[in-house]
Amino acid sequence: TDVKELLLSRIRDVADYPEPGVLFKDITPLLADPAAFTALTDALAELTVRHGATKIVGLEARGFILGAPAAVRAGVGFIPVRKAGKLPGATLSQTYDLEYGSAEIEVHAEDLAAGDRVMVIDDVLATGGTAEASLQLIRRAGAEVAGVAVLMELSFLPGRRRLESALAGAPLEAL
Ligand code: 5GP
Repeated sequence: TDVKELLLSRIRDVADYPEPGVLFKDITPLLADPAAFTALTDALAELTVRHGATKIVGLEARGFILGAPAAVRAGVGFIPVRKAGKLPGATLSQTYDLEYGSAEIEVHAEDLAAGDRVMVIDDVLATGGTAEASLQLIRRAGAEVAGVAVLMELSFLPGRRRLESALAGAPLEAL
């Protein structure tokens, strides 16, 4: 579609970042283009409404940039999932495996409750580890998963497969 073409045209491939052999998808040209950023915000908000979400969880850090305007547009609340040690209140935390080592993310426990339906938003789905851990956090908080929506899925990586069981039938939408 036209929107997909517009979004793709504003993503810059950066070779060997952050390390040799990695082709990094840089979304800053998209953010700098108001037509593209608006089209992306509208598309994410539309998915949020279509899947009946009552909250958006954004994943640090680019999930904040995309998720916050989508939440305002959709008329739902925005909840940041942060790297460990950044949130001041009582948190739930979840560790997950990386290629080398592990990582930990957190959410304010009081931000999610039974009855919430949550759409998780991020820019890129790569291995799926971050998104999978966020779904586990949402479920542990007693909330329901409405789905995961990303700008881009790196389909040469097994992210979609890794998310399958945590999604439990909820949709993974990649624009
Ligand atoms: P995963 O946990 O799926 O392996 O990695 C996803 C996380 O890493 C996301 O939060 C995403 O922002 C970041 N990420 C991984 N690869 C890329 C990339 O090529 N471009 C951008 N913009 N983010 C990436």
